Amino acid sequence: MLIAIDGPAGSGKSSVARAVARRLGLVNLNTGATYRAVALVALREGVDLKDGPTLAVVGGRVELTANGVFYDGELLPEDALRTPEVSAAASKVSAQAGLRKILTGRQRMAARTAENLGGAVVEGRDIGTVVLPEAELKIFLSASPEERARRRALQTGREGELERIRKAIQTRDRRDSEREASPLKPAADAVVLDTTSLSLEGVVGRVVELVSQVQQAASRITPESI
Ligand code: C5P
Repeated sequence: MLIAIDGPAGSGKSSVARAVARRLGLVNLNTGATYRAVALVALREGVDLKDGPTLAVVGGRVELTANGVFYDGELLPEDALRTPEVSAAASKVSAQAGLRKILTGRQRMAARTAENLGGAVVEGRDIGTVVLPEAELKIFLSASPEERARRRALQTGREGELERIRKAIQTRDRRDSEREASPLKPAADAVVLDTTSLSLEGVVGRVVELVSQVQQAASRITPESI
């Protein structure tokens, strides 16, 4: 079983994907970490964030696993990947089509490995549209920009910086939705969930319900019924 969860920053993707994976005993793959890994290495090594060919080489050395993201075999620390500088740089490098192609391949490889272990909840921006268009269930999470900024501020302990966070989210949203290569948008067959006034538990419950509907529908399609 492959479940794709897409949506903008602060829509609750990571928390929902983690909780759904735990509830259903599936692997959780966070594809944003691959873009963050490339951004972190580029900032460290002084690579121009528009230098597509060099960024693609960096991307080829990234490995995505359920335990995190590795660069040249080294696990990159979560806190280094989550700084505001890396967030902004990840959004910039993710506009490079060549890099996206490489990272899409790494993400598919991780999903295939997880599928052999029973399945995965894969979260990102283009999972339902590009990375795993064959996913059995596609969810697109949304929420108002104000609510997303509030969640991000709480999550990062930066409650005093609400306005700065709201602006940073808005800039990333615009860049992610307007880019030519795999823009952020729901897949045609995705279930769109507005989580603005829902609790985390509420969203997780709804996704788990949708998973069991998909499983029931699949079990009704037997060779005899075709
Ligand atoms: O999800 P997260 O905030 O960690 O993603 C960081 C950045 O990586 C996003 O702003 C987006 O530009 C990019 N990204 C993407 N496609 C994905 C996942 C993330 O373009 N599947």
